[in-house]
Amino acid sequence: MYRQIVVLTGAGISAESGLRTFRDQDGLWEEHKIEDVATPEGYQRDPEMVERFYNERWQQLHDGNVEPNAAHLALARLENEFDGQLLVVTQNIDDLHERAGSRRLLHMHGELTKGRCPRSQQTFLLTDHFSVHHTCTCCIPAQRLRPHVVWFGEMPIGLDRIQHALDTCDLFIAIGTSGTVYPAAGFVDTANHHGAQTVEVNLIEADRHSQFQYHLQGKASEIVPQLVEQILQGQIISDQVNLAAQG
Ligand SMILES: [Zn+2]
Repeated sequence: MYRQIVVLTGAGISAESGLRTFRDQDGLWEEHKIEDVATPEGYQRDPEMVERFYNERWQQLHDGNVEPNAAHLALARLENEFDGQLLVVTQNIDDLHERAGSRRLLHMHGELTKGRCPRSQQTFLLTDHFSVHHTCTCCIPAQRLRPHVVWFGEMPIGLDRIQHALDTCDLFIAIGTSGTVYPAAGFVDTANHHGAQTVEVNLIEADRHSQFQYHLQGKASEIVPQLVEQILQGQIISDQVNLAAQG
């Protein structure tokens, strides 16, 4: 039986809900320059363009075609039914985990649905597109809200809390994220170091430098519900789960 589980989710889990990803082929970075729309310098140069970029992402989340998939729902079920501790850390800025029902959730790269006061760092739920009219209520004069998104060159959110959870977890699962790029690469090292089982679920074949002990290849929406079922039944993940997931 596991007592403490950390789950890291990445672009792959959102892609299965129909959201466009950033890094993949046909990803957003092929149409937009990272330095223009995802750096503090780009925002200072042209805030309207950056806001337009995130407004489009926000619109996509709200156009009614994007829903949490079976993997999101399974993780919410795990949170509800698991007796031990669970923390879901996501690299995604969408709100699909929340919509599925997850509450013990950490958005390490920020949230598309929030704006942030650049002075106090307080966050505000966005009910509409970004514009000059979106200002904070914490300062006088009111400050223009910036996207609550971690840009290149900025520190991910909640690293201390993630580190602490990894230090004490006995199972670490990475879903739909390349396990070889930092910070995920560091997470799996930490979990391995503390004797946890480490499992990755990915559409693509395991990288040969992968530090994960188990690799389950396939769709997150198919594998994650099976994994969650096994965990809730008190089973330890093994190669047999691997076979079940692939079969
Ligand atoms: Zn403020």
